[in-house]
Amino acid sequence: MTLVLALAAMLWGIGHILRMPTNARFLMIALLYVGVLLVHTVFPDGHALREALGGTVDEWVSLGFLVGIAWIYSIGLKRLRSRVRPENLPKTKDAPTSSELERNARHIVLREIGGPGQKRLKKARVLVVGAGGLGSPALQYLAAAGVGTIGVIDDDKVENSNLQRQVIHTDDRIGMPKVFSAVQGMRAQNPFVNVRPYHRRLTSDIAPELFEDYDLILDGSDNSETRYLVNQTAFEKGIPLVSAAITQWEGQISVFDPSRGGPCYTCVFPQAPADGLAPSCAEGGVLGPLPGVIGSMMAVEAIKFLTGAGETLLGRLLIYDALHADMRIIAVHRQDDCKTCGKKT
Ligand SMILES: [Zn+2]
Repeated sequence: MTLVLALAAMLWGIGHILRMPTNARFLMIALLYVGVLLVHTVFPDGHALREALGGTVDEWVSLGFLVGIAWIYSIGLKRLRSRVRPENLPKTKDAPTSSELERNARHIVLREIGGPGQKRLKKARVLVVGAGGLGSPALQYLAAAGVGTIGVIDDDKVENSNLQRQVIHTDDRIGMPKVFSAVQGMRAQNPFVNVRPYHRRLTSDIAPELFEDYDLILDGSDNSETRYLVNQTAFEKGIPLVSAAITQWEGQISVFDPSRGGPCYTCVFPQAPADGLAPSCAEGGVLGPLPGVIGSMMAVEAIKFLTGAGETLLGRLLIYDALHADMRIIAVHRQDDCKTCGKKT
């Protein structure tokens, strides 16, 4: 038997030197084994060749059986291991996996964010109102940046005419509620974030309870009624608000937070624009990439606020005129007679 085992080891060694694939080396040894079994079955007892190979048929069969069991076991083990991929491993809240660290490496290298900033992003909870033009890039970049919990509320469904600018949605998701389409987009981009979709309109009866679950609100809604409701609720709950709006070729964005000395939305826009002065996207049209620019800025402001990097647009209103490639920033202040946050009311 020793002779055969030495022969097998030699075959393996030759295979290794010739850089043969492991499977081919196993095949050679299997052929050797079959040869040994044949010698034992074909030649009579006491034959010189049988003596040279050693052992009996039973011993060789038992050996083959044991090796077979070990082989099947190792294959089973390999399959189990391949099933436990990094994203399926149990995750603790604060310990990033190596894949997550690599994903966020370019943030971690930034002096203003670094490891502590990235941890704050992971712990953060951000609610985005509206999964349309502004919400699309804002949600995509929040998810890509590793914001731990992202809520999104919208009662609309994806329409063909949305796709020119609402880039989180895709053609094959036309007819699907926007929040579910947005969730698919975010999960495909980053499986490490927790996404909460709310397929309904934001109303005053649900807003306070909903906002309580979040550290920051991003308003990318498309109507004044929702905008004032978001502002009122964020003020009452003391939650900062990144608010933006777009029309045709122009966009604006600011950060509102009276609890940090800045104005609220109503301080700057005390009254909703009269009908016809601010046409909706459907009425007046809108440049496709414009919400991409402003919605990405919303994500930028959110990340700065959450990590403490740089200065946000608190107390400043940024206006971008895409048609003339002009950008202005104007200072905005809290108003004592504000209907929402004023001290005189
Ligand atoms: Zn105000």
